Amino acid sequence: MPLWLRNGRRVAGVGVQRLRHLYARIPVGLRFVLLLSLTILGLHIPYRWYSSDQTKQILETQHRIALLHQLKSAQMALKQEMKRFHRHAEDYAVWNDAVSAIQRKDADWLTTNVWEWGVVHLGYESTAVWDAEGSLLGHAGMAPHLLITGNDLYSLARRGVGDVGLVRMGERLFMVACVPVRDEQISSKVYGVMLFANEIDKSTQLALWGTSSIPISLKPLPEQKAEPPQTVQSERKGGQNLSFSYPIKNPEGHWIANLTASIAPSQSLSVRESLRYAQYGSWVLSGIITIGASLMMVVFVRRHLQPFLYVASRLARGDWTARVDYPARDEFGYLAQVFNRMAQNLHQSFEYQERQRKEISARTAELESLHQHLQTLNEELRQKNLQLELAAQTDGLTGLWNHAAFQLALRNEIQRAERLRQPLSLIMLDVDYFKQFNDNYGHPAGDEVLRQVAEVLRRHARPYDIVARYGGEEFAIILVNTELEMALRVAERFRQAIQQIPNLPAPVTASLGVAEHRFGAMPASLLYNADSALYIAKRSGRNQVQFYQEGSGTSEQQQE
Ligand code: GH3
Ligand code: MG
Ligand code: MG
Repeated sequence: MPLWLRNGRRVAGVGVQRLRHLYARIPVGLRFVLLLSLTILGLHIPYRWYSSDQTKQILETQHRIALLHQLKSAQMALKQEMKRFHRHAEDYAVWNDAVSAIQRKDADWLTTNVWEWGVVHLGYESTAVWDAEGSLLGHAGMAPHLLITGNDLYSLARRGVGDVGLVRMGERLFMVACVPVRDEQISSKVYGVMLFANEIDKSTQLALWGTSSIPISLKPLPEQKAEPPQTVQSERKGGQNLSFSYPIKNPEGHWIANLTASIAPSQSLSVRESLRYAQYGSWVLSGIITIGASLMMVVFVRRHLQPFLYVASRLARGDWTARVDYPARDEFGYLAQVFNRMAQNLHQSFEYQERQRKEISARTAELESLHQHLQTLNEELRQKNLQLELAAQTDGLTGLWNHAAFQLALRNEIQRAERLRQPLSLIMLDVDYFKQFNDNYGHPAGDEVLRQVAEVLRRHARPYDIVARYGGEEFAIILVNTELEMALRVAERFRQAIQQIPNLPAPVTASLGVAEHRFGAMPASLLYNADSALYIAKRSGRNQVQFYQEGSGTSEQQQE
């Protein structure tokens, strides 16, 4: 496809799109006016084209009919006039006095009573009288031989048959009547011939055609023997003038005049003008009808849409029971049905959503309370766990840290001491001859001794020292930030306090081994050293404190 064609199509497409957008913005009433106007215009143009052609034809036909009618009337009027003229001549020629005057060849009488009478009193153009032999007795007005070019009228009259005819003289036309002169007994004898001629001038024509709306004229033709091709002729000038003619013969049978009826261009024009105004009127009427129809349409649509708008506003306010009441089964009825169904669906889904919402909020509340309950339970569990943890780390009989807690504490404290470069000491304590005590006083009493010893240790230790039951009747005390010398003093305080425990079935003593942590050494090493010192204390007679010192061994070895 050539580039210009492709571009042209694209531009046209864009143009159509824009037009569509513009059209969509026009209010519906105006759009209706536009469409209706275009439709009427579309129908009007071919109709006008066709109708104007038709009207022209009808007008022409009507004009023709009127003209022909008028022409016929004029023809009749002319015939009537000629008959009247003929009868008048006939009446005149039946006259005994005239017969005897002709027989006498009394020119005076004839002058006074016939030809001068005719010209002067009756206003004829010519009168003449011939005797029975055919010699002209006299005439008045125009010479009779000019009027009777052939011998038809005259010879007929001589044979006893009177007749009338039209005769042309140059540009003038005459009615000529030739009648035989008879006596009053109406015998068949012809005594002479009388001629009467009257010009058909403007005044005669006026009298003949009267006040016809269509101008009628009787005009001479150049005399011709050939019969015109048709008796009726139409002629147009400048396409405006319309005329019909009726050709008329003279008594010799030559065509000499045309009886013409014509419609002047001005008359035809005025009809056209009024026709045009009628068309303008029809345009204006169409416009008024278009606007009226559009207004009615807008009012109609608005009235029908009113219930829908009202119900829509109610629905928008949340009134779900609103429905359109439209009983007719037309398009609006169908729209109302669909609208109501949609409203019902909306209502149902709204109710469903509401139910869901309530259910969800109920569930949420339930979950909230469950969550709270769980939190309480968790807290209880945590407490229980703490208790359990404590219980797991605590010795049940004495309430001191148990063996496992001691091991953990020892590791932690050694690490902290290493980190803070602080000294740390450990005391291992064992109750002397405890088996014997148990044997003598029973295990419950032994248990009480263990509780009392534990109480003594707890009371004499500092809050941050760790006092634990190592196992059986053995105890371990971690002294944080404490050097050996100080630890020995503490151990001695413990030993003295234990042997002074009151209210026992027998006094109780304990042996203690003390050691200080050596930086970088393992926890087991400290434990071993303290235990070694305890062993020495036992072996050295019990109820005493022994120690282990790095580099010089136990206190016993130092004494040695
Ligand atoms: P030594 O001075 O050499 O330590 O003598 P001993 O009798 O104290 O030591 P031995 O190891 O021979 O006996 C320890 C006894 O401690 C044996 C056991 O019955 C007793 N004992 C251990 N644990 C408990 C306990 O929890 N309650 C009671 N009542 N006695 C216990
Ligand atoms: Mg023991
Ligand atoms: Mg013991």
